[in-house]
Amino acid sequence: MKLNVATELKLPGREGHAVLCERIEDIEYPGRWIRFADDVTVEINYVFDGSGFETSGSVKTALKGECARCAKELTVPFAHEFEERFEKNAPEDGDAYPFSGEELDLSDLVRDTILLNMENYVLCKDDCRGLCPVCGCDLNTVQCSCEQEAEDDNPFAKLKALFNEDKEV
Ligand SMILES: [Zn+2]
Ligand SMILES: [Zn+2]
Repeated sequence: MKLNVATELKLPGREGHAVLCERIEDIEYPGRWIRFADDVTVEINYVFDGSGFETSGSVKTALKGECARCAKELTVPFAHEFEERFEKNAPEDGDAYPFSGEELDLSDLVRDTILLNMENYVLCKDDCRGLCPVCGCDLNTVQCSCEQEAEDDNPFAKLKALFNEDKEV
């Protein structure tokens, strides 16, 4: 996703505004995936101060996720604001994003804004009952017979049974 800033480079102090909308390929980041369910819309204000660009705006899209309990596929809306600086030929690990020529490449900014703010724990519904830990069936739609056995294995249930035995003696 690239923003042309040729005009603003010649006119420091002049504020630019743009809305970009693009389809972005899914991104794999060490241990994590960003999967897009919709185009990415970036709204950006930017101003050149002679050495770099001060930018602010928002990133909006929809991400594919899955319910943390039942693994059902979900579409999760994403919207977050950013405030970042672009510096000509900035070092890779610096505070500012680098740019060269007459374009700001917003790809890293979009990726970082999503990675830092996306929800990692989503549910299909607040009271999702999840999958049965024994047989794997979806407890939202099926009532299996495993639940009772699982309860019998519960250490607290055993303890309770012990107490009850004591009482009887
Ligand atoms: Zn669920
Ligand atoms: Zn089961």
